[in-house]
Formats: sequence, C-alpha cells, structure tokens
Amino acid sequence: MQQRQFTYTSHPARVIFGSGTIARLPEELTLLGAERVLILSTAAQTAEAEALAARIGARAVGVFARAAMHTPVEVSEAATEHARQLGVDAVISLGGGSAIGLGKAIALRTDLPQIALPTTYAGSEMTPIIGETDGGQKRTQVTAKVLPEVVIYDVDLTMTLPAAMSGTSGINAIAHAVEALYARDTNPVINALALEAIAALARALPAIAQDPQDRAARSEALYGAWLCGTCLGAVGMALHHKLCHTLGGSFELPHAETHSVVLPHALAYNAPAIPEVMAQLRSVLGADPAGALYDLGRAVGAPAGLAALGMPEAGVARAANLALANPYWNPRPLEPRALRDLIARAYHGTRPLSE
Ligand code: NAD
Repeated sequence: MQQRQFTYTSHPARVIFGSGTIARLPEELTLLGAERVLILSTAAQTAEAEALAARIGARAVGVFARAAMHTPVEVSEAATEHARQLGVDAVISLGGGSAIGLGKAIALRTDLPQIALPTTYAGSEMTPIIGETDGGQKRTQVTAKVLPEVVIYDVDLTMTLPAAMSGTSGINAIAHAVEALYARDTNPVINALALEAIAALARALPAIAQDPQDRAARSEALYGAWLCGTCLGAVGMALHHKLCHTLGGSFELPHAETHSVVLPHALAYNAPAIPEVMAQLRSVLGADPAGALYDLGRAVGAPAGLAALGMPEAGVARAANLALANPYWNPRPLEPRALRDLIARAYHGTRPLSE
C-alpha cells in the first residue's frame, strides 16, 4: 500500500447520453436561455446540419458549414464575425473534432455558450483545450472559456461514421486514456475512467469493424470516447501525443490514423518506466498491452505504418530530432536511439517491441 497524494480538478459540463437524445436539444436550448443559435459543421456534414436547423425551427438562425481540420484561424474569424452579425446567443457544433474546435474558437472570442453533438470518438467536446492553426503553425491553449456547456451524445449520429474512420477515431480516443494512466498529474478518478474507457473501446471497435450498424457496439464505443475525452481534458499528455503532434504538423499526416499507428510503439517505449500502469493495462488488454493495441489496429483495418500515410523515410530522423530539440516530460526520458527506433517501427508498421 502507498500513501496517496493527488490534485483533481473536474470540468463542469452537462452530459446527456443515449440513443435519440438529439430530441432533448430544444429543452437544453431553453435551459440555456438560447433564442438565436448558429449551427456549425464541416462541409461534408452540411445536410445533417441543415436537418438539425429544421428540427430546431425558428431558434436556428444560421448554418456555418466550413469547419476544417486543425481549426484554421481565418475560418474561426469568419465564423465569429458571422455569429456577431446574426446576433446569436449560443452555438451548436455538430460533428467531430473539427466542428467542435470551431465552436470552441467562437467561444474563445465571444464567450457564447456551446452545445456539442459529437459524431466521432475524438473527445474534444470534454476538454478545455483549443488548437488553432495560423500560417501553418498550430497553437494550443487551455482555457475554461472553450469548454462546451452541454454535450449531447446521441449514438444515432455515429451510425454513419465509416468503418475505417470509426476504428482510427476510436484508437485516437484510447490514446488519451492510455497517456492519462501515466500522466504526471494523474489521479484516482481519471485512472478509473481511463481503464473503463480502454476496456469499452477495445470491446466495441472490432465489433463495429465487423458490422458498422451494430448499435450496442456503437453505444459502447461512444461511451468509451466520452470517458477518453474526459481523461484528455483532465491531465497532461506525454510522448505519444507530442510525437503525433510533431508528425502531423511536419508531414501533414491525418490525425486519427497517425494516432492509431504510433500508440502501440509509444506505449512499448514507455513500458519499462511504468510497471504499475502496464499491470493495470494487462487487466483490460491482456498479457501484452502494446501488442494488443497493434492487433486492434489490424482488426479495425487501420493503416499499419506511417509510410502508408505518406511520410517520407527521411522523416524518421527528422521527427526524432524535432522531438529531442523540444524535450517534454515523459515517464521514460527521451533517449535518442530508442526514440529513433520507435519512430522507425511506426514508419514501417512492424509489431511493437514487447517488454
Ligand atoms: P473531423 O471532425 O475532422 O471529421 C473527419 C471527417 O469525418 C469530416 O469530414 C467530418 O465531417 C466527417 N464525419 C464526422 N462524423 C461523421 C459521421 N458520424 N458520419 C459521417 N461523416 C462524419 O475528425 P476528428 O478526428 O473527429 O477531429 C480531428 C480534429 O479535432 C483535429 O483538428 C484535432 O486536432 C482536433 N481535436 C481536438 C481535441 C481537443 O481537445 N481540442 C481533441 C481531439 C481532437
């Protein structure tokens, strides 16, 4: 037995979870006192955003369907200006991390309340984190201003998420929970949520890959994603997230796919420094947690290596040098040779080294 010592900060949010929960939206708008709302989505989800506007009726005064990956600052500014011109008193973000990121960007500039309706497993809706891209540089801020006031998880909205995207988005979520387990500022609440989340997603994702219309599996995955988002919002991330950030930014690699490739290798790298976390992970992932995450990627049809995502081979050394140039806290210090080996394995898509 060890003496416990921790700090735990909870982030206030009202969460409604289930199937058909979108029907609760009018009532939630009333509770917020919202009379004029702007609905946000990506261009790909315009039809869904317009259907949502029709459902809300006169309180929906506009649809802004230009949300984009990595929240470009020019889109944030155009959307904020649009919201001001319409005189809105709340925003509704319908979609994945891109639409929710845009809602946060508007809240950052205006303090308008947000209702998020997540349709992927990325988890942004539960975090006070916003990253915006300006001139190719992504700048991340943490502020309570951007935390959505209400999150309505409706499993029905996730049924259309394509099988491949469901798998990589789900592993992206698992990455939040895995890193939360060994975060420097982790705590018992987040630890319990993280293990529950990993177990739920590890059960659900292969079932979704087999049958994307499996409602029970979709419900389990979204439940896991909620918990993973809570982990991401509550504690600091380490090597895995930093590496994915560097790789994504340097080689324009897709977000969720990059996470799916790197996670088993980042965990294998950290394993020797986190024996207690590995024991906890064994209870939900089996004898070889890093290998199990690698197998999960194969089971959901995720790309195995960064090469398949378009990274040049010279990127292995470059990414390692970039990580070493900006060292950050990690349970295992960044060792040049081992780090390069980790990235090389991720590049080739080979099985991670087990302990
Ligand atoms: P995304 O929001 O960009 O969605 C990817 C594509 O899938 C889009 O075209 C979208 O319209 C479509 N899509 C989403 N849900 C769908 C559905 N149910 N059916 C059909 N199509 C659907 O992708 P994402 O992975 O959810 O989000 C990635 C972005 O979120 C990145 O910019 C990342 O940095 C950010 N993010 C931020 C945080 C945070 O805490 N700030 C957390 C996680 C991710």
